[in-house]
Amino acid sequence: MSDVRNVIIIGSGPAGYTAALYTARASLKPLVFEGAVTAGGALMNTTEVENFPGFRDGIMGPDLMDNMRAQAERFGAELIPDDIVSVDLTGEIKTVTDTAGTVHRAKAVIVTTGSQHRKLGLPNEDALSGRGVSWCATCDGFFFKDQDIAVIGGGDTAMEEATFLSRFAKSVTIVHRRDTLRASKAMQERAFADPKIKFVWDSEVAEVQGEQKLSGLKLRNLKTGELSDLPVTGLFIAIGHDPRTELFKGQLDLDEEGYLKVAAPSTRTNVTGVFAAGDVVDHTYRQAITAAGTGCSSALDAERYLAALA
Ligand code: FAD
Repeated sequence: MSDVRNVIIIGSGPAGYTAALYTARASLKPLVFEGAVTAGGALMNTTEVENFPGFRDGIMGPDLMDNMRAQAERFGAELIPDDIVSVDLTGEIKTVTDTAGTVHRAKAVIVTTGSQHRKLGLPNEDALSGRGVSWCATCDGFFFKDQDIAVIGGGDTAMEEATFLSRFAKSVTIVHRRDTLRASKAMQERAFADPKIKFVWDSEVAEVQGEQKLSGLKLRNLKTGELSDLPVTGLFIAIGHDPRTELFKGQLDLDEEGYLKVAAPSTRTNVTGVFAAGDVVDHTYRQAITAAGTGCSSALDAERYLAALA
């Protein structure tokens, strides 16, 4: 059995590394489980990040995450590129188990496991991520000035992305599987009233085309089976996100969409000594800077919690 640590952090995106930096600088010697496959989090899968403050000329996503990792490590964070596969958060001493079955113990746990954007499941989709294919209009809309863009989805997020993108784009085509939208009436009306937005109903993406960059989509009409081409240089996939909260079900309170609930503006979950930050909590903002911000808050909350125990 390992020693009891002050704090264990699960996850290594902007939230996890920021929590690691702050708790390390507070001499709490955090132990960070970075994840086995995607250490560094969502930004490891993107190219240029232009909206993280402090980088006037932008920075590549993986470089930003390498810097955050190195900064946390410099102050003594212990980083392990492995997954946590089970947790027991209920007692005063929390336990988390890694893939080798080793049990690690801590007085406080910070959860920063992020969320996974839903994919279309098409062959070219990942290869063209950051090369025309995106899941975030706030992040990437600016790159698509005067271009033809497709948005996939029929909910509030898809309408919001489309109306935001229409500020930059030459045209925005919303492709939806049904002939009615799930989005709220107000969001629908805003999209219908936008002269740059048009709709392709009852259709799905059959093919994402392009070699180095996205060149277009092949669409399939689900009622007639007919195929058609949509020449676009931007594709925004807005069919939802799944928070990575499977591990915590039954122990931590989740909202109706499966995100961890915290006592905002703090990062306290319903279990004493367990804190949560970043996209695993946030389905509104979903940005690197907001994840880093709540990661900082979670470290300060954990620090105060540990100080009160002493
Ligand atoms: P994540 O970055 O998702 O990190 C979660 C971490 O938890 C991962 O490292 C994962 O391995 C780990 N993890 C999960 N489960 C476990 C487990 N069981 N055990 C151990 N570890 C685990 N935002 C911007 O501000 N600007 C941009 O330009 C931008 N571009 C983006 C481009 C793309 C393609 C994507 C997908 C997102 C982009 N975003 C951008 C959004 C931004 O990446 C996220 O908001 C941010 O990464 C969320 O940080 P996070 O720390 O909450 O979670």
